[in-house]
Amino acid sequence: MRPVKCQRCGEKSSKDQMEFEIVGKTKPLKKYYHKHCYQDFLKEKDFKEKEMRELDNLKETIEDIFNIKQLPNQAYPFLQKLRNGDPVFGRQSVGKRYKEGYKYSLIEETFRHCEDTINYWLGVKNFNGFMGAFKYSLSIVIDKIYFVEQRAKEKEYNIKMVKEHLKHLTNEEDSMFESNYKKASKTQDDISDFLDD
Ligand SMILES: [Zn+2]
Repeated sequence: MRPVKCQRCGEKSSKDQMEFEIVGKTKPLKKYYHKHCYQDFLKEKDFKEKEMRELDNLKETIEDIFNIKQLPNQAYPFLQKLRNGDPVFGRQSVGKRYKEGYKYSLIEETFRHCEDTINYWLGVKNFNGFMGAFKYSLSIVIDKIYFVEQRAKEKEYNIKMVKEHLKHLTNEEDSMFESNYKKASKTQDDISDFLDD
């Protein structure tokens, strides 16, 4: 069989070892991948789509807080740096935790958390255009993001604990029901014993 090239790793293999995907509507094309490369490709695609969704939500939240129609393109590199764990403001010294980056959804949550503070400064301070105000608010967000992350983790932990507790209770109820049931049937036996006499 004629070998085909994998779209992910670039190695050639025979077609029977490959998965394919059909792309394009007017001129459909078969794109081949090794089976394991295809799994990686799908995982990456999912990840990228999730990132895009979360960035889009973040963008809408910032537009809402600043009451603007469209977040300017210049704002994105700052958000990407915070996402990737790079220093947002040039020669900023960053901790180990910071270097791992923060998810867009967490950045969004922190913007919401700081909304009142941001609005306060928007009202009292004179900023030189949107970007000045945006950078100032982003520094407020960076200051609080670790706190919001810890709070979110704690919340997640508490929910997990409550769920486990409920599961435990249900198990207990089940065993209580079982022993009551046994008691009931035992009483019946007792009665029949009595009747037999
Ligand atoms: Zn491959």
